[in-house]
Amino acid sequence: MPSVFYDLVGQEHIIEILQSATVASREGAQTQEMTHAWLFTGPPGSGRSSAAIAFAQALICPNNGCGTCADCNSAKTNGHPDVEVIRTEGLSIKVEEIRELLTRVAWAPSMGGWRVVVMEDADRLTESAANALLKAVEEPGTRTVWLLCAPTLHDVLPTIRSRCRHLQLRTPSLETVTKVLINRDNIAPGMADFAARVSQGHIGRAKYIASNESVRSNRKLIMQLSLQLGSLAAAFQAAQTLVDLATSDANSISDERDEKEIEKLQEAYGKGATGRGMATGGAKAVKELEKEQKSRSTRRVLDSIDGALLDIATFYRDVMMVQSGNTESMINTDMREEIESYAASHPEHSTMLKINALMDARTNLARNAAPLVTCEALMCQLARK
Ligand SMILES: [Zn+2]
Repeated sequence: MPSVFYDLVGQEHIIEILQSATVASREGAQTQEMTHAWLFTGPPGSGRSSAAIAFAQALICPNNGCGTCADCNSAKTNGHPDVEVIRTEGLSIKVEEIRELLTRVAWAPSMGGWRVVVMEDADRLTESAANALLKAVEEPGTRTVWLLCAPTLHDVLPTIRSRCRHLQLRTPSLETVTKVLINRDNIAPGMADFAARVSQGHIGRAKYIASNESVRSNRKLIMQLSLQLGSLAAAFQAAQTLVDLATSDANSISDERDEKEIEKLQEAYGKGATGRGMATGGAKAVKELEKEQKSRSTRRVLDSIDGALLDIATFYRDVMMVQSGNTESMINTDMREEIESYAASHPEHSTMLKINALMDARTNLARNAAPLVTCEALMCQLARK
């Protein structure tokens, strides 16, 4: 029994497909089970990239994905010559990156099996990048397999998705996530239950919350914002707090790494030396890197604000549940009292409007609206009775 698929929690329906495709791939020719382009979709945290990477391991492992051999291990850490995992931390994947990738994967697989490309954010391809990729997906080298990941089918150009076999991942249930945290990650049952609830099926995030005190306390501050919207001034203050918390969350990861990257690059060009290298090529490269880092940190802040808005939405979702008489399936059980009193003192019809306002704010942010202004407008709407 191959074990790279063990971690795909709650995805039994696709594990079966991937296993039979792996077996079919041994026969060499492309069969109905084994095709050269796949598209994994699912909500954040459902594990679409984990599923794609597990499949990549299974394809290059001599034992169909044992999870323990050198091939399996190196494929997972992006160290296998025939497996390439494309992760973008920037806002988009540009056509130059795709062209460069295509030159790299044009070679035959070094081990004689398959060459596998996992693209974690196919939804971030610019249109010209997608078109460059399309040609490769249409006429692949016979031994190249493309595993694309995106939140939904609609995030990928129709021309590309029509050439892929589509696999839709499910959000695992609350019970499933709780069990994994207890059994796999040794997290105490009470904490596991709390983390599974507030992360709503996002296993990675659940683990992050359960094992990180500062993340939990930041989340608490964010969840309290809805209770502090007594005046217009308070609403503006809440927006500022939200953006500040999200930014500091995002920057705590970026800063150290950014500095190291710049240093490494300067070393490569001979830092401190007076040679022409640093003066010409080096300075330009540092500027390029700084630009990339800026795009990366912008995305991280936006992701962080988006996560905070989703958290806040669970507050109003709970309020709505209580207002309709359901107190059983509350997500924020640690705020039960506050939620019940909010539900009693606010009209039912406004709760849905507030949830809609939150979702509109997320859409606007995804379209590059200015974060602070968007959050201010949102908080003013949430402040209404
Ligand atoms: Zn293996």
